Amino acid sequence: MSTIEAAQYLESAGSKTPQELIAWAVGEFGPENIVQATSLGAEDQVITDMLVKNGAPVDIFTLDTGRLPQETYAVLEETRERYGRNIGIVFPDAGAVESMVNKGGPNLFYKSTENRKLCCQIRKVEPLKKKLAGIRAWICGLRRDQSPTRTGLQAVEWDAQFSVFKISPIADWNESRVWEYIHQNGVPFNILHGQGYPSIGCACCTRAVQPGEDARAGRWWWEAPEHKECGLHPGK
Ligand code: SF4
Repeated sequence: MSTIEAAQYLESAGSKTPQELIAWAVGEFGPENIVQATSLGAEDQVITDMLVKNGAPVDIFTLDTGRLPQETYAVLEETRERYGRNIGIVFPDAGAVESMVNKGGPNLFYKSTENRKLCCQIRKVEPLKKKLAGIRAWICGLRRDQSPTRTGLQAVEWDAQFSVFKISPIADWNESRVWEYIHQNGVPFNILHGQGYPSIGCACCTRAVQPGEDARAGRWWWEAPEHKECGLHPGK
């Protein structure tokens, strides 16, 4: 049923601009029923800027895995200051992390894809699941051309994993358009983007890419491309 509803919502969302789509989503679901879970990457910073300018009191938060690069904390601070509002910080369950690293070691994710997925599950998916409980929609900065797994992305989809509608206002933007928006609007961005990091996650699981390489080649570089998702956007 919700997949059908998502198709209907997609139709009524029509060919709106990202700002119009955000305004539509706020009106449709209510600001208290929408959140943005930001990675603080370039695309999510664009969405945050649009949300703040929309003015609706939407909860904006980030998942602090405990393994983020210092540069990400720097852009988090800068974003809080730039917009004069809190960007929530959500932590994983301390007991679950403690038990996992005591069993598998602090760098367990390099040892197998299974370990890596477990780590992403405990540090990212479970905390997000808690935050999305009772929420109707989350707004994401996903783009179709970010990875081979995202080519079918729609601006409005049903996310069966979290039982929410997923809104992707910049699904059809390319990277140049993201940077044009950032520079035109003075949006804070992670300085790692200028050092060969198009996609930034945990420090231990992200490295710079070479010119011409896929944007997500630096994420979990030791794994095959079809495995390169953290579980927040399965199949995407
Ligand atoms: Fe763990 Fe790496 Fe996933 Fe971060 S990206 S949650 S460190 S496996």
